[in-house]
Amino acid sequence: MGRFPLLSLGGFLLMYPALLVAAPAEDVRLFVRDATRNGHLQLPGRFWHITDLHLDASYHLADDPTKVCLSSKGAPAANAGPYGDFLCDSPYSLIQSAFNHMNHMTPQADFIIWTGDSPPHVPAFELSTDLVIQAIGNMSETIRGHFPTLPVFPALGNHDYWPQDQMPGSANAIYQAVAKLWAPWLQDEALRTLGEGGFYSQLARPGLRVICLNTILYYGPDKATANDTDPAGQFLWLQGTLERAAQNLEKVFIIAHVPVGYLPFTRDVTAIRKRHNERLVYIFRKYSHVITGHFYGHTHRDSVMVLLDEEGKPVNSIFVSPAVTPIKSVSEPYSNNPAFRMAFYDAKDFSLLDIWQYYLNLTEANERRRADWRREYVMSEAFGLEDLRPQSLLQLALSFRLPQATSFDKYFSHFMVSYDERIRCRDACKLNQVCAMLHLDDRGYSKCLRGRSLQDSNVLL
Ligand SMILES: [Zn+2]
Repeated sequence: MGRFPLLSLGGFLLMYPALLVAAPAEDVRLFVRDATRNGHLQLPGRFWHITDLHLDASYHLADDPTKVCLSSKGAPAANAGPYGDFLCDSPYSLIQSAFNHMNHMTPQADFIIWTGDSPPHVPAFELSTDLVIQAIGNMSETIRGHFPTLPVFPALGNHDYWPQDQMPGSANAIYQAVAKLWAPWLQDEALRTLGEGGFYSQLARPGLRVICLNTILYYGPDKATANDTDPAGQFLWLQGTLERAAQNLEKVFIIAHVPVGYLPFTRDVTAIRKRHNERLVYIFRKYSHVITGHFYGHTHRDSVMVLLDEEGKPVNSIFVSPAVTPIKSVSEPYSNNPAFRMAFYDAKDFSLLDIWQYYLNLTEANERRRADWRREYVMSEAFGLEDLRPQSLLQLALSFRLPQATSFDKYFSHFMVSYDERIRCRDACKLNQVCAMLHLDDRGYSKCLRGRSLQDSNVLL
């Protein structure tokens, strides 16, 4: 599309009258702002990211609160309502309400990224290989039922196996089953590698390739791959795939369940094994000019990372999406409200422009017996950012270093998907968050922590 002068909202709506029909006025205004950014009239690309649905089919309103859901593991789900409880995984009604809301929104997306974890958090004896396949099949059909024509790029989560986390580096019943279940969305070559190793790559649109990694192969609890240097040959495959993408002048979105880097809510723990994390960071740095975005799930919380190269220059934008399931364990001080998001990207260079985060206030939805999904925030607006390119995310992280930075309180409230504004993250908690945001490798992260306080910490290299 050619260059146009910035059009007024009225002029834009004349060209896109459908936007008036279903989208709330504010959504239209923001969409137009994103669309006309920098004076171009180029509709940004957009996709849904959903993750960690964790359907608990046993969920029901019971007189005995310990009997509401198997996923509470005997703890009383005292606030159970029609859309769930913070001690339970998702009832089907919650998942349906999320997809219904997505479906009624304009503008619609180009595709969906779905980063895994369909079965509930229950003891291994409650599940089996067949039940896990059934759960993945049920969620796949639910998504296809709501979005029959939309391309979907799914990834396997650590719960999408039985027993959970134990994914092998070779073909098995579950990889083979998902290669059948996801056949409507993926092409033959993608289905072949999916059936053998649980990973694949495919063009999402001309010039944009999705590379879906099976990061469960690098996950600490996975005993099947603990001693492998390159489980399922995925590192080798990833390098080859990125190399070909570079040669073909494609850009790449990396998607996976377990993220790269450090967990933001604890200290010095990588989400995958440290040695596999180091290797992944090395590959991502080497091909950072090809990769324009990373999209992960697994932590159930909303967080951002920025990959720096060896010189400390920001080179990749990384987004961890919060979960649909609201579950927490009894001992955890906070959880997340149910959530999904829409991401906007530049349709020419595929860099990330914005995220619109949606959520359901679970307590309110149960009280009103109605699921009013709302937008929680728009990332660029919330933090005054021009876009979500690596330089902007670095600017965001550095702004958190100031002790009086209220933007960090906002970030942490988003981290919990507005679960409880009274819970604050200070001192050590904040240092963990900021170091994890900026440093994905051992060298940088250790140095960041050694500063002990954010003011004197060397959060850059
Ligand atoms: Zn999960």
